[in-house]
Amino acid sequence: MEMEELIAETKVYNCVECGKCNANCPISWFESDYSPRLIAKRALEGFIDVHDEKIWHCMSCQLCSDRCPSEVDYPKFIWGLRAEALKSGIKEAAYVSELEQLFLDGERDKDIGIVKEITAGKTAVEGQDGGIVTSLLTAGMEKGLFDSAIVVHREDGFKAKAIMTENVEDIIKASGSKYQFAPTVERMVEAIIEGGGKRIAIVALPCSIYGIRRIQKVFSDVELYNIGLFCFENFYYELLKPFVSEILDVDLGLADKIDVKKGKFVVYIEGEEKSCDVDELQEAVRASCAFCTDFTARLADISVGSVGSPDGYSTVIIRSKKGEELFGLLKGLETTSVDRDEIAKLARLKRKRGVEELEKLEGV
Ligand code: SF4
Ligand code: SF4
Ligand code: SF4
Repeated sequence: MEMEELIAETKVYNCVECGKCNANCPISWFESDYSPRLIAKRALEGFIDVHDEKIWHCMSCQLCSDRCPSEVDYPKFIWGLRAEALKSGIKEAAYVSELEQLFLDGERDKDIGIVKEITAGKTAVEGQDGGIVTSLLTAGMEKGLFDSAIVVHREDGFKAKAIMTENVEDIIKASGSKYQFAPTVERMVEAIIEGGGKRIAIVALPCSIYGIRRIQKVFSDVELYNIGLFCFENFYYELLKPFVSEILDVDLGLADKIDVKKGKFVVYIEGEEKSCDVDELQEAVRASCAFCTDFTARLADISVGSVGSPDGYSTVIIRSKKGEELFGLLKGLETTSVDRDEIAKLARLKRKRGVEELEKLEGV
């Protein structure tokens, strides 16, 4: 890969060094020596080195590029540098395994990560699949394991909005997947800095959990309970809504629930179920998802998703003592066996897609 081509492709040439990327980057807030602005500047000056371990600090949240006045696609630029690093023999796994060793505890599975226990479960609580995430949060809050939780609500229809809450009603209101990225890490940072939060539960996507773990390294006195959601890809609401309207002839904003199952995007609305192939919605998928290789939220204390479980159940992967402690609080839990191969298959598929997309960047 020619660095000049990557710089041109991702518009790094347009950088005006305004610093908005740094100001909006949750990782920069905690790691004073991590600066997207400086990495862009060094690349323009010809000093970027793919051996710089800072290129692995980014969590691909796109908060910098969303707010960049010069349309610099910094996350894609970083993925391009990572592609080059991998090509030169650097192992991404080293950065992930450092965090695994710090926070997790269990047997390593090459496809689904560190596992202490894996099961399919459901509770009496109504939620996505087995209602496990809602039950974990309400149980943890009621038992005083944490004082606040970062969850995702709906606003303006089905648009995802990350909120910090200290009450169970808000947690129940947050149940159900939104299939969109929400800045949960930003809310967590605010909870720590502004609210002085010390014991927090957070429900987040694999990419955000990666960022949270990096921040947690700095804030070792904050007790965090990380609940990760399985994620193959997610959508931009502003693009998804018109696509759904055109393909399914429904207003996504009025949907009761949405789901992604076995390659189908399903909308539940006014007692009806409407679906299309997820592939038909590809143009609404977030740009960074193409390169992402983590399906099961490998760095979470507990990962939850529907893949691998019968209908009405959630798959639960417990990866740490904290995860075990939280899961142990669930009352009225029904469990059944998990199809581990199904999870591993999708995890491998996502990794393959990510690696292939990275290889394409090498050719930029
Ligand atoms: S926000 Fe954009 S223009 Fe401003 S410093 Fe960052 S990359 Fe450069
Ligand atoms: S994508 Fe997110 S983590 Fe990466 S530099 Fe931009 S704001 Fe920071
Ligand atoms: S696919 Fe990866 S980058 Fe995209 S939302 Fe999911 S975890 Fe984040």
